[in-house]
Amino acid sequence: MGESYIKFDCKQVSDNLPAEHEISGLNKLRQYLYAMGFIGALPDGDGFGNVSKKSSVGKVVVSCSKTGSIRDLSREHFACIEGYDISKNFVKYSGKLPASSEAMTHLAIYGANEKVNVVAHIHNERIWNLLISAGLKTNGNADYGTVEIAMEAYNYVLESKLSNGIFALAGHKDGIIIYAENFDKIIKLLNEYI
Ligand SMILES: [Zn+2]
Repeated sequence: MGESYIKFDCKQVSDNLPAEHEISGLNKLRQYLYAMGFIGALPDGDGFGNVSKKSSVGKVVVSCSKTGSIRDLSREHFACIEGYDISKNFVKYSGKLPASSEAMTHLAIYGANEKVNVVAHIHNERIWNLLISAGLKTNGNADYGTVEIAMEAYNYVLESKLSNGIFALAGHKDGIIIYAENFDKIIKLLNEYI
């Protein structure tokens, strides 16, 4: 862990996901990823994988912490990011449950390319190895939930100059990011590796 590692910190500003945030498309994508085993739980019960989208009002809606193991999510399992500070690894959210600690990586990617509307973080050993071998990976070795991993993802997307892509988080074993302009492109990018 690097010296500048700061533990993820979040503050709830409302215990409800505001009604203007529609989640059906995001939930559908998440159900597909769960059914394929890209989001789920390890044998010890630790959940992995999360999804987010930019909502119509420009805010980011993300699945909540500790929801990886749950088959069907409902509104209470999503949070809206109301404000954030990447350097402090801090987010403010509206929702019943805390935003995923990997929300910061999602936010960094939206910040790197304004055309990105959907981000999925999945886990898969085989695809992660393929992406690493192909050089589609972040520079660095930061682990999940750190400021560094968010910055590595930011730099990758910025340098790619693309609004659709898939890459491995080099320091987060089996961790993969898919970012795109819409839900269909996320599935299409993933299907190239299935
Ligand atoms: Zn992960």
